[in-house]
Amino acid sequence: MTTTQQAHYTALRERVLPRVQQLAHVIDGTFTVGESTETFVSLNPATNEPIATAPVASPADVERAVQAARRAFDEGPWPRLPAAERARILRRIAEGIRARADEIAVLESTDTGIPITQIREAQVLRAADNFDFFAEMATRITGESYPVDTTFLNYTVRRPVGVAALITPWNTPFMLETWKVAPCLAAGNTCILKPASWSPLSATLLAEIVQEAGVPPGAFNLLYGPGEQVGEALAAHPAVNLVSFTGETTTGKRLMRVGADTLKRFSMELGGKSPVLVFADADLDRALDAAIFGVFSLNGERCTAGSRLLVERTIYDTFVDRLIQRVRNIRVGDPLDPATEVGPLIHQRQLARVQGYLALGQQEGARLAVGGERPSDPALARGNYLRPALFVDVQPTMRIAQEEIFGPVLCVIPFSTEEEALRIANGVKYGLAAYLWTSDVTRAMRLAPALEAGMVWVNSQNVRDLRTPFGGMKESGIGREGGFYSFEFYTEVKTIHVALGTHRIPRMGVGQ
Ligand code: NAP
Repeated sequence: MTTTQQAHYTALRERVLPRVQQLAHVIDGTFTVGESTETFVSLNPATNEPIATAPVASPADVERAVQAARRAFDEGPWPRLPAAERARILRRIAEGIRARADEIAVLESTDTGIPITQIREAQVLRAADNFDFFAEMATRITGESYPVDTTFLNYTVRRPVGVAALITPWNTPFMLETWKVAPCLAAGNTCILKPASWSPLSATLLAEIVQEAGVPPGAFNLLYGPGEQVGEALAAHPAVNLVSFTGETTTGKRLMRVGADTLKRFSMELGGKSPVLVFADADLDRALDAAIFGVFSLNGERCTAGSRLLVERTIYDTFVDRLIQRVRNIRVGDPLDPATEVGPLIHQRQLARVQGYLALGQQEGARLAVGGERPSDPALARGNYLRPALFVDVQPTMRIAQEEIFGPVLCVIPFSTEEEALRIANGVKYGLAAYLWTSDVTRAMRLAPALEAGMVWVNSQNVRDLRTPFGGMKESGIGREGGFYSFEFYTEVKTIHVALGTHRIPRMGVGQ
């Protein structure tokens, strides 16, 4: 049944889509299809119909974008503006995002298949908050002073680094783009954004909003095209100083090799296989809610998804029974329907990849307790829909428990002791997030630092204050972004040593 809200979103999509059917790069402040005649098509995951065509940046387009960003950094106003002025412009971007929130959400939902409610409420508003937050932070960048007796004053200043390549993935593209663009511009850098090719639409709205807010030409550029071509060209380019990358671990490793010759500064936000530990003494109702939302929201295509659920044996059977009931009830449907909880996967290739893991898990001996089939509703037949899947009795060494599936699949593993839970939780190559459910404070305090993860949530779902560092350990990434940690990456620290008097200088070349 079509609700009023769904009808509103669908009508809005019909109005907005024609305007973005032909996407364009942004180079030096101008929307352009560039020099190449090559294009690629973005598909609606709910129908697999084409929704937009994007140009593929040629090597000449990459060169023009990099040179525009370089000029804007070396000679342009952006890095030279007072921080308060940059902040004013960034706040205008935040306002622009809020003013067009419905439009952004509808395009993003249509491009990615992620349910509109999860995009509209969480992702788009968070994207606006990113600009407000980093506007504020930009005015608070400070240095440190190191007085040395009365002879020296040593102090530090933070300067923008230069030209940044910002390479983003297809899951929640708009929010993740702002997560990079906002701190990058706030610190006074210039950038070239390279969005993922499976979800290119919302980046064009971001580009429009950035321009309307008054970011000068060249400070923000946007290039479309395959990562192996355009992303690598940016990472290899000698005039690019920084690469902030979010994506798969294997891509990140490759990118670092490409950037090594020109010694790029990298921020790497990579894959995950995050554990959720549920002890018998936990608030099990809340733990159940969080475990389900943590892996099946955003269609399971979520870097911090709690995709391994470790449950204490004494409650295992009842907890699994409750999980099965709930997972069976999850509403799969049109992403523009506000009642939908899980939408179609981003692409047929991603669907096939996830189905491959479903087959593998069964070959490995795990029990597929519920889900994993294509929905029977004929209205969903053309889309990349999959019912959320629950594997139980999973062994920690199985590939489904080790590898990132990046889809709506939860693996449940029993444990008997705290030591065993910790061993299983840490027994993967990733270390992005971990979630811990227990009412024993001592246990929580003991386990939280011992879990090998960049971020640990205790009795909490994945909520995060923007001041806190975000990032992973092990093969989930290098570096942290968020709060001032973003400026560790997007600024250069310079130490200045000033003599306050006439300290002794050893004299050379003055003879005996
Ligand atoms: P991906 O395949 O690694 O692609 C990410 C971006 O890199 C895309 O823009 C892609 O362009 C580009 N790319 C691909 N190959 C490249 C190459 N050789 N050189 C330079 N750039 C290249 O990742 P994805 O499949 O889009 O995203 C899913 C992954 O992102 C998952 O592993 C997920 O965990 C991770 N992720 C991590 C975080 C985090 O914060 N840690 C957040 C979100 C997602 P094309 O699209 O044109 O291929």
